[in-house]
Amino acid sequence: TSAAEKGQLSIHTDNIFPIIKKFLYSDHEIFLRELVSNAVDATQKLKKLAGFGEFNGELGELKVTVKLDEEAKTITISDRGIGMTADEIKKYINQIAFSGAAEFVEKYKEKEDTRGNIIGNFGLGFYSSFMVAREVEIITKSFQEGAEAVRWTCDGSTEFSIEPAQKEDRGTDIILHIAEDSEEFLMKYRLNEILEKYGKFLPVEIEFDEKIINNPNPIWTKQPSELKDEDYIAFYKELHPMSEDPLFWIHLNVDYPFNLTGVLYFPKLKNDFSIKKEKIQLYSRQVFITDEVKDVVPDFLQLLHGVIDSPDIPLNVSRSYLQSDSNVKKINGYITRKVADKLSEIFRNDREGFEKKFDDIGLFVKYGMISDDKFGEKAKEFCLVKNLAGKHFTFEEYTEKVKENQTDKGGTVVWLYASDVQKQDTYIQSAQKRGYDVLIFDSVIDPHFINGIEYKIEKTSIKRVDADTLDKLIEKEIKLESVLSKDDEERAKKLFEETLGGAPKLTITVEAMPTDEMPVVITIPEFIRRMNDMAATSG
Ligand code: ADP
Ligand code: MG
Repeated sequence: TSAAEKGQLSIHTDNIFPIIKKFLYSDHEIFLRELVSNAVDATQKLKKLAGFGEFNGELGELKVTVKLDEEAKTITISDRGIGMTADEIKKYINQIAFSGAAEFVEKYKEKEDTRGNIIGNFGLGFYSSFMVAREVEIITKSFQEGAEAVRWTCDGSTEFSIEPAQKEDRGTDIILHIAEDSEEFLMKYRLNEILEKYGKFLPVEIEFDEKIINNPNPIWTKQPSELKDEDYIAFYKELHPMSEDPLFWIHLNVDYPFNLTGVLYFPKLKNDFSIKKEKIQLYSRQVFITDEVKDVVPDFLQLLHGVIDSPDIPLNVSRSYLQSDSNVKKINGYITRKVADKLSEIFRNDREGFEKKFDDIGLFVKYGMISDDKFGEKAKEFCLVKNLAGKHFTFEEYTEKVKENQTDKGGTVVWLYASDVQKQDTYIQSAQKRGYDVLIFDSVIDPHFINGIEYKIEKTSIKRVDADTLDKLIEKEIKLESVLSKDDEERAKKLFEETLGGAPKLTITVEAMPTDEMPVVITIPEFIRRMNDMAATSG
């Protein structure tokens, strides 16, 4: 056998460059996120160097500014960060996919074991500028003593030029000469919109149009012990200006086995299932990534509002990859557990408050129980049901309450419920007269909830109050007197059976009712009714 030949793959930049430019990001507006993040990184690096004693000059004003010149058709992003020497430009800019950010983090990892707020990682972000610019200019001066300013330009081909330049102050100006097909980015409102979207919580002040557009110290970067309720509520209003106050919130904070911080809020949901999802925003090191969190956050948790920040969520990769990413799966599990723990904590510490909130969070808890087994397992302990008297019970409490009276002949405890108190009034009265308790299940999610949990509650079945159940329960000492004679009863029964065409699925019971108006009740087996309901609501 001959020895296998080994070699090195090489990349032809002539071919790869247009691919990077066109396909790196599907959203062209991302260029601004990338360039502003680089400016922020350059600033953070200088602050870190000052901290390590490697920069002893004056830090001064460190904000990043974005300037629009509609006439010249340019956008300029300026910072007073570390800047670059000519050699550094050659290394960091001319070498595509060589990340100066990653190199910096590696170099200083002994001094600081986290990468802190350094955003860059892949060494590709800068080139996203060519998605919108026909020419990019860099004018930069390194923070180092005696550094010379440099000007680099490139028109998006693989050729660049580099020459000495005039620049007083340290730092970098990135000047984009916007291409004809990208002139939408020369509109002030559009730039403002993009900056607010991606940069609202960047850790360095960003100035545009003479105002600071960001809050550099959002609450999720702080310790819970530093924060008061008012801070959480104020931040909620910052995220969702028109919303009612949230019910409560969870401050997320982990650093092992992955990094995650954030605050999740429980909004008042009431019975409104149409509430807009996508109200959780995903950040990575305070840079906005997306509000489409469906791969990161379980479906039912998307009813919550707030912010999740994790540097461990891969950003520049496809959706399908995100779904299978093991960090994303762990994050999913972690958030679910935290939410269940928080609910359980409120339930145990403040039962009364929890019951009051249950009208608003019930929908959420129930949705979680039927869609996520792990959550369901925990929620079984605090999920509440409410009876017609307005009292709340846990599953266990409720079974305990009714089992004496409401066990059927097969030994199963039957929970009775009404889904429409008005329409089912006769049946409710009939049940109550027998001493049975009736729950109220009238929210949009309840039909699914009942189906989803019934089999998980041991030896219990859940039947609507108009199902043919009442006379199958073991009645204790309650003998109802019919207003009709036995003969009349038989005749009435027969009459109804004939009139209804002998429908086999109906059960006709004749019984005494509180008023004489309705001596006959027609019931239908719960199972058949549910099938009918499902058929009616689907398709
Ligand atoms: P990344 O940010 O992932 O490292 P980029 O392509 O965005 O990759 O940038 C490449 C490198 O260019 C950066 O890591 C940094 O070293 C350098 N750079 C880019 N913008 C600036 C800037 N405004 N100031 C100083 N250096 C910069
Ligand atoms: Mg970058």
